[in-house]
Amino acid sequence: MAARQPLIVGNWKMNGLQASLAEAKALAEKAAAQKPVAELGLCPPATLVAVMAATLKGSPVGVGGQDCHAKASGAHTGDISAEMLKDAGATYVIVGHSERRADHGESDEIVRAKGQAAHRAGLVAIVCVGETLAQRDAGETLKVVSGQVRASLPDDATAANTVVAYEPVWAIGTGRTPTVEQVAEVHAAIRQDLMARFDDGANFRILYGGSVKPDNAKQLMAVADVDGALVGGASLKVSDFWPIIEAKN
Ligand code: PEP
Repeated sequence: MAARQPLIVGNWKMNGLQASLAEAKALAEKAAAQKPVAELGLCPPATLVAVMAATLKGSPVGVGGQDCHAKASGAHTGDISAEMLKDAGATYVIVGHSERRADHGESDEIVRAKGQAAHRAGLVAIVCVGETLAQRDAGETLKVVSGQVRASLPDDATAANTVVAYEPVWAIGTGRTPTVEQVAEVHAAIRQDLMARFDDGANFRILYGGSVKPDNAKQLMAVADVDGALVGGASLKVSDFWPIIEAKN
């Protein structure tokens, strides 16, 4: 099996003011001193991307956006392009998060265009997929997730420019997590899909996301084909985030 460096990314969502940069700085200092195995990233709100990237420059913690527009520029009030994120110092951008799919009606087609935009700008696209509780209860999880992987990943995706995050919608922000068997089943299916489509499909990182906390991180990270985590609430404080990072050591 190919060696994949684990990746652990914090998604701050619509949380964080200038004062919160102290947490990012503390995380970078801890990472520089303790050198975790995992590559680390933080995705703050757009207002903090540039200042956080400047603050963390040269540190082991990369910065990412939480979304981007598919176009490079133009008349799209309130939107931010992948090129702007890159210019602000970002390395990553999350696309297709379920909150964007639900709140902003983003289809797989839109997500794929955003992934392409990320690649055009030289960013790593973190493409989110995951089933709702109704879809899981209906026994449709693998069909839904495979369909999203197929339709949301652009053809130019490689293991270097794309990361897949499996985030069951019902596990995000709820404190509920799938069993390790359920996580293993979905990650194995995603791996199969990636290997069937891409020459380097074995090398893509597949993250798990959804209520990852210090007390469940170790068992989730130990699942086959879980190459790290996308972490929401528990990434806001170093005291919660660090034990999750250490769980992949
Ligand atoms: C997320 O929004 O990507 C997420 C996983 O959130 P939480 O960890 O808070 O469930």
